[in-house]
This record gives sequence, C-alpha cells and structure tokens, in this order.
Amino acid sequence: MHTQDKLKNLGVELPLFPLTSVGSFPKPEYIKKARARFVKGELTRKELETLEEKATREWIEFQENIGIDVLVDGEMYRGDMVAYFAEELKGFSQSSFVRSYGNRYYRKPVITAPVVWEKPMTVDWWKKAQAMTQKPMKGMLTGPYTIMDWSFNEYYKDREATCMALAQVIRKEVEALISAGAKLIQIDEPACSVRPSELPLVIQSMNVVTEGLPAYFFTHICYGDFEKIYPEMTEIPVENFDLEMSNSENDLLNCFKKRSFPKDLTAGIVDVHTHEIEAESTLKARLEQILDVIPARQLWVDPDCGLKTRTVEEAKKKLEVIATVVKSLRKSYSN
Ligand SMILES: [Zn+2]
Repeated sequence: MHTQDKLKNLGVELPLFPLTSVGSFPKPEYIKKARARFVKGELTRKELETLEEKATREWIEFQENIGIDVLVDGEMYRGDMVAYFAEELKGFSQSSFVRSYGNRYYRKPVITAPVVWEKPMTVDWWKKAQAMTQKPMKGMLTGPYTIMDWSFNEYYKDREATCMALAQVIRKEVEALISAGAKLIQIDEPACSVRPSELPLVIQSMNVVTEGLPAYFFTHICYGDFEKIYPEMTEIPVENFDLEMSNSENDLLNCFKKRSFPKDLTAGIVDVHTHEIEAESTLKARLEQILDVIPARQLWVDPDCGLKTRTVEEAKKKLEVIATVVKSLRKSYSN
C-alpha cells in the first residue's frame, strides 16, 4: 500500500509538505526549577504534573498558531529518551553515573531481569495532549534497538536477544497508543546507523513493533553514516523516515540520487545544534535541493532533531521560519 493511501485510510488529511517536529521542545525555566524541586522533595508529583500540563498546553498553542500540521507534546515530562522508558519498564535498574558528552554524567539503565510491559508509559500524556488540539498528535516512542544500545545488559544472552525482547514491549505500547486513538506514531532509532552490520536487527525488531498495526509510522534517525546503510535502511518497516538533513548540508541527497528514496521523507531543514536562526533564503534553498531529488508528495518538513537543547526563544524562531518558508512553497506549488 502506498504510504499516502495509508493516511487516507486512517482518515488523516494533510496539506502538501506536512509540517511536524521531531519530538522534544525546550523546557521553560519554570519546568526546570520545578523538576529540581521535585527531586529534592519540595514539590509533589501532582504539582509538578500541573506545571508540565501548562507547559504542554503552551507548546501546543504555539504549534497551532504557526500552522504545524502534525503536533508533538514537546516531552515536558521526559528527561532522557532511553531512561524515561527504562524507569517505566520492569527489568531495568540504574547504574552508577556514566560519563558522556565530555563532562555530562548520567545514569545508564541496566537490564537485570526480563523486560516486562506492565502498563502504558506514554498513553496518558498522549491523551492529555490530543485533548488540547483538533490537529493530530504524534505518539512518540524510543525504539528497541536504541534502548538496547544505550543500556547495559546483564540478563539477556546477547544484543540481539535484548533488542528482540524490547521489541515485544514497545509493540505493546504502540498497541496501547492505537487503542487510545493515535494514528501517527514515531519510533526513534537514533542509534540505528552506528553499527551498519546490525541493521538487519533494527529491521527485524521494528517489524515486531509495527507489523499489521493500523497506524502511519515514522522513525527518526540522526547522526551517523547513512551512506553505509542506504538503501538497505529503507527496509525498516515504517512509512516515513525523519532524517537530519541540514546539519550535513543535504549530503544525504547524494545517496538518494544514486537510488531513489522509496518512502515518505521528513526532512530536517534547520540545524538544532546552533543558536543561529537560519534565514528564510537558506531554508528555501535547502528545500529546493531536496525537491530536485524527492517527489513533492513524499516530502514532510521539520527541524533536524529534537529542539530541547535550544532556548525556548530559539526553538520558537526556528519553527517559525520553517513554517513561513513551507507556507510560501505550498503557494508556489498550487499555482
Ligand atoms: Zn535526533
């Protein structure tokens, strides 16, 4: 089935070049303070949650105001994209601190027993966020391969067994999201391109997660060396690949020129690693380059990656400039 038909069957109607986001937005100061106070026991979970709902609502209103088509909740209630799930699933405990990214320390999750899905991990937040808007809200999960790769395993016999066990629990979460009404679900696999020899495992585990389910699936992949896994990576069973394009100045297009991209593509057109707000002309040029290679009806647009490391102000400006450029591009296509 063509990916567009899948959307139609789900009753989701979108304009040309649908606009979306990868997932995370920066937390406003009051959320950062509230999270710190919660950790110290100065704030109840309920009080923290009330503030997280307020921040979620603000981000949803912002996305609606600038004309985003498929919204995200902004992940005000999440910290690390793997630790969040490790804390919710049975079978994980936490390691002592591990050093990453220079001087940042974090607790890497450790699998010490069979991983078990006991209850939905993201569904309550998805429902709350979807109730705040008429636009479709994406379900957002971290994929089994990335959870495996970013955790220590002390229970399963090898990486494959770990990944496949995680695939079963992530499928349960996908089913719960679909039962709640989610039609568009993104399963992030940023670790996917790090070990090209394990790409078959990524494909096999994603198949467990998505097979036969009535939703339009995205996977977000960033960093890494796509040249080594293209075109094989397009066998990952999802409809849409959300890829970091602008950070590498559209290098990926060279791959797509050699072998045409067979699925929908959500192209990141702003760099999330710089403070600089790109000019409209820069984004327009990036999109034109992409449209030389990718048919218009396959193209979605978003930032390269989650925006959580930017300031609220920077993130909003980057999203605004994307929305402005895409709206004017749509006009030129309808003429
Ligand atoms: Zn990313």
